[in-house]
Amino acid sequence: MAETKTFYCLRCQGRFPLEYDKKQVVERSCPVCGSNSVRLETPKAAAAWLAKGASADA
Ligand SMILES: [Zn+2]
Repeated sequence: MAETKTFYCLRCQGRFPLEYDKKQVVERSCPVCGSNSVRLETPKAAAAWLAKGASADA
């Protein structure tokens, strides 16, 4: 059964929810920039993203 997970785009750093099924490998593309460099967001990636975003806004 698919569930919705947060993914992020390596190109534009966009974050967006997508259906995710670990039994299926799906080629995904970013809904923002169309890049296929999309990765499942892990807790580590989320922390890095938040840290980067916080420093970029400063
Ligand atoms: Zn993108």
